Amino acid sequence: MITNNEQSKLRLAIQKSGRLHDDSMRLLKECGIDVSNGVNKLKAEATNFPIELFFLRDDDIPQYVEDGVADIGFVGENVVFEKNKKVNIVEKLGFGKCRLSMAVQRNEQYSDASFLQNKKIATSYPVIVGNFLKEKGIDAEIHEISGSVEIAPGIGLADAICDLVSSGSTLFMNGLKEAEVIFESQAVLIKQNGLNLAQQQLLDRLVFRIQSVKKAKNNKYILLNAPNNQLDAIINLLPGMKSPTVLPLATEGWSSVHSVLNENDFWNIIEQLKAAGAEGILVVPIEKMII
Ligand code: ATP
Ligand code: ZN
Repeated sequence: MITNNEQSKLRLAIQKSGRLHDDSMRLLKECGIDVSNGVNKLKAEATNFPIELFFLRDDDIPQYVEDGVADIGFVGENVVFEKNKKVNIVEKLGFGKCRLSMAVQRNEQYSDASFLQNKKIATSYPVIVGNFLKEKGIDAEIHEISGSVEIAPGIGLADAICDLVSSGSTLFMNGLKEAEVIFESQAVLIKQNGLNLAQQQLLDRLVFRIQSVKKAKNNKYILLNAPNNQLDAIINLLPGMKSPTVLPLATEGWSSVHSVLNENDFWNIIEQLKAAGAEGILVVPIEKMII
């Protein structure tokens, strides 16, 4: 029999060690979830939220979640699509960004995917590459290898590779060039199909916190001094959450203006604010944004 306690707990699978581990732990911390004991174990309990953590290899996370051994997981979208398990993507997490790309030897002419016709492609992502080839109507041979894919062309094993790229320096060191991005990835939150109501409510609380953290990261709090005769022009430049806060300064004829700016148009707006007469501009990171 399942006790009440077990029913209202979420078991979260995260990567034990590797590129996603630290950011996964950081995100939990930013969501106000404290995890007590070390990572050298298989499991850990959060002390202030009903979550239990399982530390696993990233490749195994979709299977554990499909089977309901874990209820939710943080894992790369690339792994979710490659493993093709019955899990649902709930939320993008904003870290672990990378791309899955075709790469060929530097002297090759790759103008589009037709280059791959009748060629050999080495990859650890046979499912995603297979789908890509099918979509493009291309016949090619896929060689599945599990690691060091980038050496395959150099040793005559393949004509092209398809692998994860972030800076491209590994490709460069192996005499390869990135030819085409076939999949853009980041870490995502996945869930199993059979969550009970209490677990779904816990997940909703967790997702709400994650969204607040993500929004805060994309926005900055801005404070500036504005001459009153330029206030309208300056306020017009600031989108804010509702409208900016305006407070009189001790110096006659000046006001302090507070608002929130999105990172995307940040520098653009700062330049316009300066041109409109704003002074003493302070930009402050936002920790959480609840809207
Ligand atoms: P594990 O031991 O858990 O199987 P791994 O060696 O398969 O680890 P990592 O290299 O730690 O995996 O990468 C984990 C995930 O991080 C990738 O699946 C991908 O989603 C993401 N990632 C982000 N940037 C990169 C990158 N530059 N190269 C590889 N993966 C990246
Ligand atoms: Zn892995």
